[in-house]
Amino acid sequence: MTGTPHVLIIGGGIGGLCLAQGLRKAGLGFAVYERGPARADDDGEDQRVRIGPQGARALYACLPPEAWEEFTACVEGGGRSVFVTERLRELLVLPQPAAGRAPQHATHSTSAGALRRVLLTGLDGHLVHFDREFLRYELTEDSVVGGVRAHFTDGSTAHGDLLAGADGADSRVRGQLLPHAVRADTRVLAVTGGTEPAGAEPDELPGPLTAASTSVLTPRSDAMFCTALPRGRVRWTYVAKATAYPRDVEHLDGKALRAVVAELIAHWHPALVRLVAEADPETVVPVRMLGMEPVEAWPPGLVTLLGDAIHAMPALGGTGATTALRDARLLSRLLARRRDPVQAIAAYESEMRAYGFEAVARSLRVTRSATSDSRPARTLFRGVLRTAAHSGWVRAAVFRDVGE
Ligand SMILES: Cc1cc2nc3c(=O)[nH]c(=O)nc-3n(C[C@H](O)[C@H](O)[C@H](O)COP(=O)(O)OP(=O)(O)OC[C@H]3O[C@@H](n4cnc5c(N)ncnc54)[C@H](O)[C@@H]3O)c2cc1C
Repeated sequence: MTGTPHVLIIGGGIGGLCLAQGLRKAGLGFAVYERGPARADDDGEDQRVRIGPQGARALYACLPPEAWEEFTACVEGGGRSVFVTERLRELLVLPQPAAGRAPQHATHSTSAGALRRVLLTGLDGHLVHFDREFLRYELTEDSVVGGVRAHFTDGSTAHGDLLAGADGADSRVRGQLLPHAVRADTRVLAVTGGTEPAGAEPDELPGPLTAASTSVLTPRSDAMFCTALPRGRVRWTYVAKATAYPRDVEHLDGKALRAVVAELIAHWHPALVRLVAEADPETVVPVRMLGMEPVEAWPPGLVTLLGDAIHAMPALGGTGATTALRDARLLSRLLARRRDPVQAIAAYESEMRAYGFEAVARSLRVTRSATSDSRPARTLFRGVLRTAAHSGWVRAAVFRDVGE
């Protein structure tokens, strides 16, 4: 390899695009290969992404100043989080996290679509190739230290000095690099849907459902998480052990899934039952809560992984986007030092494995405890939240990770 390395980035999601921005800022060569099409402008508007301070710092470091400005203009702040019982009795209200901090050190919430638009700023068609599905890579001897050739399903190939797999939770790059890596199955199944309540003026919804995020905690082994969207719409996610559903629901259509959840929560507050019953069936889908088992250190080389491709985590209590952005910042910074790139990758992987698998473990814990069968533990947790409502010290102890 002569001069600066050219990096093939597989996957144009949150992590891959942020890595592209970081490499561009550092003056390194790259090309992104994304299997999906260039998407419509309003695609992803209904999915909220919460970005903690590590993610905000990464965006600040990697984006060009005008894109960072655009990001800060389209975020909504973390908003207040509310914890309620299934009868909508308030347990605790957390104010907007980190209010008053500089934006690059704060928690933000935005739509997945807006984030993607920001991340694509300045990356034109020569740098991001859509409709290119990665198949496999091979290490080549084309230069003194070798390189990597990526093969795509349309028969085309691309050659680079390094390859970064940012191809998400079912990563093919990971499948080839670390075939022994295994997914962690929590055996928890979520059903998520979007609802525009009839006559949806935000002030017509019960108070808790207008919060940025609402956690509905029950004494049984299920829970629901709601996110307020623009124009009074709400995205809800019901979670329970897969065995708690009356039958195998993973292959049901949206309408049937909606009916199953409405029945499971029939004794909850009528506003919550209505929220599910009135969901747009097109938006109602099952989501398996999967993570990754930690992977032992592997010998560093010309191929690496970032984001969900290496540390996928359940969305519940998950910080997948924040962690993918953190990876992108770290990897681009280390490669920009223009040391031996394999040494840069070794340093990146060693640091990333530590915080990445810690984040996975945290979200697996949250997912399992949200669906725990232990009635005393669940009652105790609701009691702790009630206490935290009146004690800053308890609040700080319980929510020390919030924001990160
Ligand atoms: C409902 C939901 C809500 C979430 N909310 C949050 C949140 O609030 N905060 C948070 O931090 N995280 C959240 N997450 C997790 C977060 O979205 C992911 O962790 C994050 O998107 C990971 O980024 P990534 O770049 O690694 O993967 P992705 O964003 O999944 O991107 C991977 C990309 O690779 C592409 N790809 C896949 N295979 C190939 C291939 N063979 N060839 C070419 N391209 C390929 C895909 O099309 C995709 O564009 C949420 C997830 C879900 C499902």
